[in-house]
Amino acid sequence: MTDRPRPAAAPRAATTAVRGGLARSHHGETCEALYLTSGFVYDDAAQAEATFLGEADHYQYSRFGNPTVTMFEQRLAALEGAEACRATASGMAAVNAALLAQLKAGDRVVASRALFGSCHWIVSTLLPKFGIESTFVDGTDLAQWRAALSRPASAVLLETPSNPCLDIIDLEAVAALAHDAGAVVMVDNVFATPLLQRPLAFGADVVIYSGTKHIDGQGRCLGGAVLGRRRWIEETLQPFIRNTGPAISPFNAWIMLKGLETLPVRLEAMCRSAAEIADMLAAEPAVARVLYPGRADHPQHALAMRQMSAGGTVVSFELAGGKEAAFRFMDALGLIDISNNLGDAKSLVTHPATTTHMRIGPAERARLGIGDGLVRLSVGLEDVRDLIEDLRRALAAARLARAAE
Ligand SMILES: *Cc1c(COP(=O)(O)O)cnc(C)c1O
Repeated sequence: MTDRPRPAAAPRAATTAVRGGLARSHHGETCEALYLTSGFVYDDAAQAEATFLGEADHYQYSRFGNPTVTMFEQRLAALEGAEACRATASGMAAVNAALLAQLKAGDRVVASRALFGSCHWIVSTLLPKFGIESTFVDGTDLAQWRAALSRPASAVLLETPSNPCLDIIDLEAVAALAHDAGAVVMVDNVFATPLLQRPLAFGADVVIYSGTKHIDGQGRCLGGAVLGRRRWIEETLQPFIRNTGPAISPFNAWIMLKGLETLPVRLEAMCRSAAEIADMLAAEPAVARVLYPGRADHPQHALAMRQMSAGGTVVSFELAGGKEAAFRFMDALGLIDISNNLGDAKSLVTHPATTTHMRIGPAERARLGIGDGLVRLSVGLEDVRDLIEDLRRALAAARLARAAE
């Protein structure tokens, strides 16, 4: 092939989403190739030996490397502005690998309390079984972070915006406190995606994704990723992944890779609709409270706008009338589906108190601000006018049902 002119040195995010990490084979395929293979062959025994010695650049086995997976990792790393990335089979495999690769018995983890349920379980239940101490703080309260990090810690794990109340944690302030305590700062950036928030720019060391959410974005498969400095990824994370096997299927990595291509346009449309819906809900008398980081009445709106470029795709709101009102409203929706997933092209609604946050119990729910009337809406790609009509109709139906009782 003749040499083509070199493209722009610093492409914008939408360009990176389409072209980052692209490695065409000698066939010159337009679309990224799917290398659905578990292993690789060598030209001769010496090449195999050199590969295992790390002296030859050759794939060995898809548990620790695959060309399709590499394209996904490099595209996501370029979008995140991270030096390196490793993809995993799910978001939880990513969280588990990042923590277990970093920690050992006697270490201490400080985490925000408002974590995804399984992340909370790893920190509160799994890690202590191996002699790793865990401390939870209210992520929005810097005084609690300061107190918890006044003695040494090995890792900090936090989620911002958090699920389902969309609390915002000050990344820069917590990273500074964590580094003084000797901790590696890990951020679960699922709700923001690399397009709305880049934690590394605020001092985080590791960023974790569930690709199952916005990155696939069409509800097809599970996947995850861990991003950070090349040295940490290669020397700390990669041996753990290589030997314990949370590898992503090349097929799922290919879906995620293609998902990234449309992430900027999907996210822009979803955020625009979410903002419109948040404003519409705030004007409804049946809605007691709307939680959306993009609205000026969000308790941490200023902080959200400092570290995020938009309010996100999820809107949470509290219905006056508790669980009964929430159930009546959800059951009256004709378009929006009831599901615990998020980040999908299809708008999905969930009642956290009886599903995703059922197991943590009423006391912990109260502490996290998850009331019985709280509903979480993941805004999808349908026409926002249809979504608003569906929401209005369901709010009215719920009111009528109540009046008739
Ligand atoms: C979904 C999710 C996870 C877990 O990801 P899976 O792909 O389901 O394993 C972790 N953190 C957050 C914030 C999530 O929303």
